[in-house]
Amino acid sequence: MVIVMSSPTKPEDLERIVQLAHQRNLQTHISHGEERTIVGLIGGDVRELDTATLGRLPGVERVVRILQPFKLASRAHQPDGGQVTIGCHPSSRRVTIGHTKLAIIAGPCSVEGREMTMQTAQAVREHGGHGLRGGAFKPRTSPYSFQGLGRQGLEYLAEARQATGLPVVTEVPAPEQVGLLCEYADVLQIGARNMQNYPLLQEVGRTDRPVLLKRGMSASVEEWLMAAEYVLSQGNNRVILCERGIRTFETSTRNTLDLSAVAVVKQQSHLPVLVDPSHGTGYADLVPSMSLAAIAAGADGLLLEVHPDPPSALCDGGQSLSFAGYAQLTAGLQAVAAAVGREM
Ligand code: PEP
Ligand code: MN
Repeated sequence: MVIVMSSPTKPEDLERIVQLAHQRNLQTHISHGEERTIVGLIGGDVRELDTATLGRLPGVERVVRILQPFKLASRAHQPDGGQVTIGCHPSSRRVTIGHTKLAIIAGPCSVEGREMTMQTAQAVREHGGHGLRGGAFKPRTSPYSFQGLGRQGLEYLAEARQATGLPVVTEVPAPEQVGLLCEYADVLQIGARNMQNYPLLQEVGRTDRPVLLKRGMSASVEEWLMAAEYVLSQGNNRVILCERGIRTFETSTRNTLDLSAVAVVKQQSHLPVLVDPSHGTGYADLVPSMSLAAIAAGADGLLLEVHPDPPSALCDGGQSLSFAGYAQLTAGLQAVAAAVGREM
């Protein structure tokens, strides 16, 4: 259940709601938005509360019962749509995701070395990027494939951030690594394979670091939003979703990029959503068209794989854009962005 407080909210009115919730053993999640303060009431007994009675309490504008299984992730919880600002590190630029301005986060699949990370970060920044992605810990299908440079990779990402100001997005593979990743990352990426790793979701939920939650390759939108709910329910409200394609019978692409999920998420949730057309298609030459389509479908930005020399990449070279391809793509996005009321 969501209680929308009248504006401006008086502290005593808010306190009354919190007390009432605690008397009934309900959890409260308070969001102080730019225009409204909203109290989410979560817990088993919430069904017994009478919305009409709550609606008459001083300072309450309206009460909305949330019927979906996800509560904090639901649009009813934040009807105006949410935004997540990334870039907490002192050398990072701050970037708001879920704004009229689209966010482009790009970089190699894996950090392979210092030079390639620095070069890629410069190219990403020069051609309109707002964030640098790159895996230091790589969850690979085969245990014999390149597993990433680990801490050394994080050091290279930090150096690239220092040089360019780009906030760093990198994957956290396991709950034990969250502390280490928080030392380096501006955004903690949860990979598709870990979308339902509940201890990991809870651990990142206990940090204040923005979380980029990729959709599991066999996850429904509801399961994905329930995964987001795990993070939100621990107190971390900085969740960014990322559609990266799902497993279907279709074999002409690596995954089936489900752009309808973007529209569904926008209806059902306030969380910002990015699209990853690199993993979504598996082919660099399909990435530009799917990037345009993603923006047209209402995505808040893109997560792109870019590499200085894609054929020699240690991971996902076939789906990685060259610097020239990336520059061409970002330049081409302007027209579609403008057509749907977004800016680059
Ligand atoms: C990645 O972003 O490099 C990655 C491994 O993605 P996913 O978890 O979506 O497969
Ligand atoms: Mn990859």
